[in-house]
Amino acid sequence: MNEMSKIAAQPAYSEAAQAFLKREPGLFINGEWVKSSHDKRLPVYDPSTGREITTIVDASDADADRAVLAARTAFDDGRWSGLPSYARERIINRLADLIEAHIPELAELESIDNGKPRSASQGYDLPKCVQTLRYMAGWATKISGEHIEPSSSAVGTFHSYVRREPVGVALQIVPWNFPLMMAVQKIAPALAAGCTLILKPAEQTSLTALRLADLVAEAGIPAGVVNIITGLGETCGDRMVRSPLVDKIAFTGSTEVGKIINRAATDTLKRVTLELGGKSPVIVLPDIDIAKAGAGAARSIFANAGQVCIAGSRLYGHRDIFDRLIEAVAENAGKIRVGPSLDPATSMGPLVSTEQRERVMSYIDQGRKAGASVFHGGDAPGSEGGYFVNPTILVDVKSDMSVVREEIFGPVLAAQRFDDLDEVARAANDTTYGLAASVWTRDVSAMHKLAAKLRAGMVWGNCPSGSDTSLPFGGFKQSGFGRENGRYGIEAYTELKTVSIAL
Ligand code: NAD
Repeated sequence: MNEMSKIAAQPAYSEAAQAFLKREPGLFINGEWVKSSHDKRLPVYDPSTGREITTIVDASDADADRAVLAARTAFDDGRWSGLPSYARERIINRLADLIEAHIPELAELESIDNGKPRSASQGYDLPKCVQTLRYMAGWATKISGEHIEPSSSAVGTFHSYVRREPVGVALQIVPWNFPLMMAVQKIAPALAAGCTLILKPAEQTSLTALRLADLVAEAGIPAGVVNIITGLGETCGDRMVRSPLVDKIAFTGSTEVGKIINRAATDTLKRVTLELGGKSPVIVLPDIDIAKAGAGAARSIFANAGQVCIAGSRLYGHRDIFDRLIEAVAENAGKIRVGPSLDPATSMGPLVSTEQRERVMSYIDQGRKAGASVFHGGDAPGSEGGYFVNPTILVDVKSDMSVVREEIFGPVLAAQRFDDLDEVARAANDTTYGLAASVWTRDVSAMHKLAAKLRAGMVWGNCPSGSDTSLPFGGFKQSGFGRENGRYGIEAYTELKTVSIAL
């Protein structure tokens, strides 16, 4: 460890944040804050310091049942789905306005809880929450069915149509990497479609979801429509996954847990959408501006400290430019300022938890032992308890190494050379995942050929993989199924009903 890599101290929290942390919130069920049926609480840590800062409820089975029942009752009596869609649109927009008005407060809380730089939570996560709510609010008035003429009856003898109805009670389980953004990405389409819901944030990062509950109430969303439960996935999460009162599950998180949830949901044949892990390739062809591609590749893997499902964690550089490309990525990695989340100078914060830091360091170790060389980073900077890892670039990797095959979910890039398009497409597809890919080239033909060959739900050209509220988001293969965002995202919260009347 050198002096340069010593981590600065986390600046003091604002008074508003301190007041929130003292609140020790309960659970938000049926429009009010309620106490848990037992007194179990979970510690919450600031990843920048490793210090415990507050506690949250570890919900019991009884709490989970209560939340599900509240959502079920609110759905069945039509207090939300029965409103004119314009009223739903207005209320969702009100929630967007309230979040917008509280961006600095929510961004600080998010950074304290998750470790991401405040510039990122304030400049990206929170604005994206507002945008998503406004986009989905607009869909509330536009969801519609269609009229179809039956093919086996004389024209005019039947009136047949398809209604698009809300799917019912949605259980929404979200991870810790973009806590509020993921929560909003789930609740916005559910609300627009007329569903009621239970949101379960990740146990590591529940604070902004709890603060969101206050705003949900203030926005005028009727009681029971949005319920927010904190606690462990394998206990209260599993209880709700198995509940016969839940109609749909929307899950974002690990592939391993996605499989567990999908299996458990089968007993009651719930509608399930899964947004899971990835090992996304970044492919750089020799004709591209190397400085630009290097900066893009660095952003792909080091944004949010690599804790991104679409992170570009495998870099394939054409043999002719590979050395210069790696230099460019390393130059960008060298500019990253690793530090505590609230320090304005920080561009990469700590990882979310001590477990995640150990997991990432163990992958770097496995890579080294298997013969990979560390081109950049590979170490953890000194700090007083924070969960920091330096941006890391591994070269001399082989396709069978765990650093190439498994999702590390940290700032670790595995880089390889390639010679031609077919070879790189095969290598890029040689994974159990299929979430995203990015391709860098000015050659239009090569770009579209690769876009067609890549087995991934999203292909981005000449920019890092990303997301947009209007574009379908989701993966092939073991990266999950179903799509969020856009029209497909809202349709995932609906059922089709065919009505056919003999005239
Ligand atoms: P996880 O999948 O265990 O947790 C995600 C959410 O699922 C949390 O809210 C958790 O409480 C809940 N959960 C866990 N077990 C459950 C169960 N049996 N029933 C219902 N809910 C359950 O993710 P993690 O342990 O926090 O992270 C582990 C790995 O997952 C990471 O290292 C990373 O590889 C991956 N991950 C992927 C994403 C993504 O966006 N694709 C996000 C976070 C983590």
